[in-house]
Amino acid sequence: MNQTTDREIWTSVLAHIREHEPDKCRQWFEQLDPVDIRDGVFRIKTLTTVHKDYLNSQCQSIFDDALRAVTGRLVSARFLQQDEPDTLPTNKQAHAFIEPRPSINNRTDQLNLSSLILNPDSSFENFVMGPGNRLAHAAALAIAQNPGNAYNPFFVYGDVGLGKTHLLQAICLKIIEYNTDARIRFLSCESFMTQFMESVQIGKMAEFRDHHRDVDVLVIDDIQFIANRARTQEEFFHTFNSLHQLDKQIIISCDRQPEEIPDLEERLISRFKWGLVAELDAPCYETRVAIVQKKAQLRALDLHEDVACFIAQRIDSNIRELEGAITRIQIQAMVDSAPITLDLARLALGEPAPADQAVLSIQAIIDATTAYFGVRMADLQSKRRPRSIALPRQVCMYLARKHTRHSLEEIGGYFGGRDHTTVMHAIKTIDNHLIENPDVQSAITVLERQLGRSATN
Ligand code: ADP
Ligand code: MG
Repeated sequence: MNQTTDREIWTSVLAHIREHEPDKCRQWFEQLDPVDIRDGVFRIKTLTTVHKDYLNSQCQSIFDDALRAVTGRLVSARFLQQDEPDTLPTNKQAHAFIEPRPSINNRTDQLNLSSLILNPDSSFENFVMGPGNRLAHAAALAIAQNPGNAYNPFFVYGDVGLGKTHLLQAICLKIIEYNTDARIRFLSCESFMTQFMESVQIGKMAEFRDHHRDVDVLVIDDIQFIANRARTQEEFFHTFNSLHQLDKQIIISCDRQPEEIPDLEERLISRFKWGLVAELDAPCYETRVAIVQKKAQLRALDLHEDVACFIAQRIDSNIRELEGAITRIQIQAMVDSAPITLDLARLALGEPAPADQAVLSIQAIIDATTAYFGVRMADLQSKRRPRSIALPRQVCMYLARKHTRHSLEEIGGYFGGRDHTTVMHAIKTIDNHLIENPDVQSAITVLERQLGRSATN
């Protein structure tokens, strides 16, 4: 088989995925190691078992489609572990690879005891720390380094999309990194309940118990679904005790604090609080910008800082929605075959571009703002920093950013050649004021009205 051709096909496959599945494409795909194509199978070595399992469960069809599009033949991808022998499969085996494969943890015929497949992206390295998650992050790291002994159980709670599942997976990935033999069961509370009920129905309770108690780490995601489930609570109570007695790590996530789970047995509430209860709070503006940048980097996407700031400004709570926004922007760029600019991002997120309205100039903003605060334009452009001038200047920068098409650099240039980080700082300062400072809130409202821009524009 011609190595050059295989390599070329591989390069084209990656390019195809990048172009057609931009949101699913990951930078680490570049680090996969193509072996060869034979008998309709393209064999690809992966970085770790976690990557292999993830590719098998989440990316098989993306690679198969790309391979077929690139080669024009019925070729299927097969992911190998680094240390898996390079020997060729027989034709019969090769065929089996195309069949859907059962989950790795599906050990029994009748009882489905599958665990969640870890996502290699949900690592500590990819988890952006900020004031809202500092404690939970530090505790999670301590647990990963010393499972069973740091905080047991670890109970992390917070609203949807704030990183609970990510943090839980990060702990597991780190534990596996330190100890590849660690036995980890990671499942949603719903899976735990379903598996429990099935095991009762088909008389396989012993199997269910062994499966969940003979482990080093048990992770139950979204435990709130255990509310009102008396029998599952009873079973979980015993599972908990048996693991805890052996210093096995228990990790739980929830959308609320233990005592707020409706109809949760007192004895479970108290156990959930034995270790550490940590909250995940909504991310602040800078954390959101950093998360958007991190997600873009993971997707090998070159996202200008302007656009990252725009997304972070537009979406201020749920991180999953930040990712959704990146996806919408990527798809818009794909449909338009255009580079990602601020205007394209605005369009993708359904915000009318400033051009759709009467064009607002920075000068109009400066005129209105200087009149409102009773300062002179020359003051705003000077290097002086007294608060009486700094605030109007920040308001101008904020309004210019929000209501004109000028880039951060251009706006900085207007105000005495300040650089883009100064403008970002100004926007953040006003964003913070808008939460807690009624004077600034009313200044912005009045000015936006004067300039013909309602607060939602
Ligand atoms: P939850 O389980 O709390 O609903 P997830 O863990 O599923 O939320 O997070 C939603 C998305 O946001 C995931 O893609 C996750 O990687 C991302 N995310 C959440 N918090 C962070 C963070 N601090 N840094 C980077 N990505 C994050
Ligand atoms: Mg979750």
